[in-house]
Amino acid sequence: MSDKLLVIGEVKEGSLRNVSYEAIAAAKKINEEGEIVGVICGNGELQALGEEMIYYGADRVITISHEQLKAYTSEGYGQAILAIVNEESPTSIVMGHTAIGKDLTPKIASKLNTGLISDAVDIEVDGDHVQFIRPIYSGKAFEKKIITDGLTFFTIRPNNIPALERDEARSGEITPKDLEITDIRTVIKDVVRKASEGVDLSEANIIIAGGRGVKSEDGFKPLYELAEVLGGAVGASRGACDAEYCDYSLQIGQTGKVVTPDLYIAVGISGAIQHLAGMSNSKVIVAINKDPEANIFNVADYGIVGDLFEVIPLLIEEIKKL
Ligand code: FAD
Repeated sequence: MSDKLLVIGEVKEGSLRNVSYEAIAAAKKINEEGEIVGVICGNGELQALGEEMIYYGADRVITISHEQLKAYTSEGYGQAILAIVNEESPTSIVMGHTAIGKDLTPKIASKLNTGLISDAVDIEVDGDHVQFIRPIYSGKAFEKKIITDGLTFFTIRPNNIPALERDEARSGEITPKDLEITDIRTVIKDVVRKASEGVDLSEANIIIAGGRGVKSEDGFKPLYELAEVLGGAVGASRGACDAEYCDYSLQIGQTGKVVTPDLYIAVGISGAIQHLAGMSNSKVIVAINKDPEANIFNVADYGIVGDLFEVIPLLIEEIKKL
């Protein structure tokens, strides 16, 4: 019997998050020939989102629209996904290692009495074994894990496994499912979003992160300008958040967001181990710091020793000429 791989899509503000497409690519890495079944939970019209999953490589998609799935709760989403898992009996389940993925997948794994490999950054197939590569010790080392028996259940870190090319010529069945979702004890009354500017930090390909060296809320302005010319997002160290230069939603690190952009520019950040835990796997790291001994230079691919308030305007000027 060929493999059936369930990919749980994640909807944010009416669109699927990129990691949903990356999860399809991850499923393909496990078994190129397997059937990939997308699952989307939400409330309202989900057909167009189902089509997107197909364009990115899913063979068919199951959509579950329900009033109780309007906002995420582990109870509501857990019931819906478990019902689909029981019906479809997949050989693998994959989801993004996002805030929702981190909350939902252990719950499903425990209900299914199965294991879970979380936060994989790559997948290698070695003979009969699928190896999941995941960072440990705050990104200082990588371990390879295999599942020898039962369901292959895992989450993938966003921005690490590239999505397949979008192909509008692909077609597949999209099946709306009516499910009964009961006994929800959590009621989401309202979702208040922080007014974030520009690109979503956790999915950005370019991040300009500011630290305590930025010195004030106003000091972040040149970073926002640089982010705008580069089409990136602004992040921060906990030092900058603790000093109230910016909101905690921008914090990157061990107790903040884990990001893996193509380009990470650390500005006035010393490079504490807890900060590195959230960004050291970025593809290219540039550090701007006036202290040549700053630890951030030990992980940087390119370093600029200088005052950020002089360096950033020069960078913006040069980039605008391109
Ligand atoms: P600092 O260490 O003060 O560094 C500021 C840097 O700016 C210095 O290197 C300085 O040379 C440079 N600078 C100053 N002025 C300029 C200028 N004009 N131009 C250029 N450079 C300049 N930290 C995180 O970031 N994320 C986390 O998730 C996190 N979690 C933590 C969890 C725990 C349990 C603990 C104990 C700590 C955690 N921390 C975290 C805090 C971490 O240990 C550091 O304190 C913090 O990262 C320091 O922030 P910083 O680099 O911005 O500040």
